[in-house]
Amino acid sequence: MAKKKSKREYVWLECTQCSHRNYRTSVSVAEGTPKLKLKKFCKNERKHTVHKIRRK
Ligand SMILES: [Zn+2]
Repeated sequence: MAKKKSKREYVWLECTQCSHRNYRTSVSVAEGTPKLKLKKFCKNERKHTVHKIRRK
């Protein structure tokens, strides 16, 4: 029986347009890295762009 671990890791939310790391958050990495894409406000470009998770 496999033990379920709720492992959390700090990741960056990186802008896919300018590669600027705008947000830091924690995600569950129990079953691999989740490939989330979020629409966030990029401070660098001053507009909403798609951000993806970047593991350290
Ligand atoms: Zn950007």
